[in-house]
Amino acid sequence: MVNIKTIGILTSGGDSPGMNAAIRAVVRTSIYYGREIYGIRNGFRGLLEDNIEIMNSQSVSNIIHTGGTILKTARCDEFKTEEGRKKAYDNLKKHGIDALVVIGGDGSFAGAELFCNEFQVPVVGIPATIDNDIRGTDYTIGYDTALNTVVQAVDKIRDTASAHNRLFFIEVMGRQSGFLALNGGLATGAEAILVPEIEDDYDKLMEYLGDETLKHKKSSMVLVAEGDQAGGAFSISQKVKEKFPHYSVRVTILGHLQRGGSPSAIDRINAGRLGVSAVEALLAGERDIMVGIRNSKIIYNSFALSKHDLRKLDSKMLDMINMLAV
Ligand code: ADP
Repeated sequence: MVNIKTIGILTSGGDSPGMNAAIRAVVRTSIYYGREIYGIRNGFRGLLEDNIEIMNSQSVSNIIHTGGTILKTARCDEFKTEEGRKKAYDNLKKHGIDALVVIGGDGSFAGAELFCNEFQVPVVGIPATIDNDIRGTDYTIGYDTALNTVVQAVDKIRDTASAHNRLFFIEVMGRQSGFLALNGGLATGAEAILVPEIEDDYDKLMEYLGDETLKHKKSSMVLVAEGDQAGGAFSISQKVKEKFPHYSVRVTILGHLQRGGSPSAIDRINAGRLGVSAVEALLAGERDIMVGIRNSKIIYNSFALSKHDLRKLDSKMLDMINMLAV
């Protein structure tokens, strides 16, 4: 077992609200156990560019409630090359860093896994993405906050849509995954959702719009995940307008506001649990794993498991959207 004296931490890939609460937990848990902790800025790029600084308890004061990440995040193509990762390893050694905590999504974990195996550096990942699509964990940091942001926005749009009997297409984030669209739709009583996981959802929507159901509705909300196979909300709404000119159609793209804002209580608490567990896992000799939450309990999964496939949507919950839109 490696005797870990010094830990490095970085945030990588897409940012999500609650990353700061996780950084705080990792930094303070390391200090609690008498270890040194270094912050690496700009994700893996900071490792390559030696953008690394020692942190103390005050470095993470007053950040638990803030969105974004104080360590910044970045995408770094050079880390995908062997030479790039060697440079990163040399910089880690220069600072005497024995182990790494990587907060990010499945892309970051793919890089972390390679790095861990090539250089025998223990690495533990903490899942953070507003998409909630990482396999092996019920929960990822930032999803709860983003979902609540979607719900608040759709509720507001519903008010104005009802005043004019309108049909709204609201685009939410999710290039490969429909969690925000599905659960946002369930929480706001959406009439339909379109998600990347379902191939024929556009055809079903056309059928639904063609029958009489919507006639007795004061307003109709369709939540569209940005990665839906039929295209984004804008192009779908154009086709609907052409086919059904009697609908008063409008589009809202929620965009980056879904990534920002103060993290919800759930995101702060779970980020804390995952941060503490990540450090404890490293000190217990774990490596090459992601910490996650399943059935409310902390679990460890190999990176290999977390990186393959995305989490699947619950088919009963998909059915509920249609059942409750009668
Ligand atoms: P996320 O972690 O949110 O899924 P990305 O997929 O953009 O975000 O990955 C973030 C970073 O992780 C990349 O910019 C790159 O530095 C690193 N990374 C991703 N995939 C790999 C890979 N296959 N090999 C090495 N590094 C990778």
